[in-house]
Amino acid sequence: KDLEFFKALSNQAAIAIENARLYEMAIKDELTKLYVRRYFDQRLKEEMRRAKRYRGSLTVMLLDIDHFKGFNDTYGHAAGDEVLQFLSRVMREQVRGVDIVSRHGGEEFAILCPEQTLKDSLAPAERIRATVEATELTLAGHKVRCTVSIGVASYPTDAQRPEALLEMADQALYHAKHSGRNRVMAYRDMPKAAEPA
Ligand code: GH3
Ligand code: MG
Ligand code: MG
Repeated sequence: KDLEFFKALSNQAAIAIENARLYEMAIKDELTKLYVRRYFDQRLKEEMRRAKRYRGSLTVMLLDIDHFKGFNDTYGHAAGDEVLQFLSRVMREQVRGVDIVSRHGGEEFAILCPEQTLKDSLAPAERIRATVEATELTLAGHKVRCTVSIGVASYPTDAQRPEALLEMADQALYHAKHSGRNRVMAYRDMPKAAEPA
């Protein structure tokens, strides 16, 4: 009787463990173990609803590796993948446990910092940038360095909707790229185009 009971119990436990494993696979990227974009987008919506309800704030950072195509061309795709893994570790180490670090696309990453203002988030963004710049990697027998550009935007100051907030962070990232790369740019610090007369 006991044996039958424990068999049934272990079957249930096995199903629960398998479901947890499948869920983890669905929300995490295989190479970097960071959250996938779908999960990030969902959490951004939730966190913005919460921030609106409780009059809080939140910040998003968009990060893109500088001249990564040339890096792959010179050292190979496998070495490029190691850079992505290194960068993922740096990002996770430099932000809080509650922040959502995600792989947004090939070599683009997004970080959601709930309940943080722009001012709170600039320090961790700068730490990520500086740590990447200062770290020498040994890849395929070569000593190499890389740099990243980061765009930052905050709710409620820069945008009121999730898509708009990402768009503002993307504009800041674009500006960081075109003003020399290897820098953190806040949307609100971007020089704005002159107002039409
Ligand atoms: P920029 O400074 O303007 O960002 O220059 P870039 O060369 O980094 O340009 P872009 O951001 O468009 O680079 C995209 C490159 O990233 C293309 C591709 O070679 C590389 N890439 C994208 N996904 C992966 C990946 O999963 N692994 C590796 N190794 N490379 C990737
Ligand atoms: Mg890119
Ligand atoms: Mg790039």
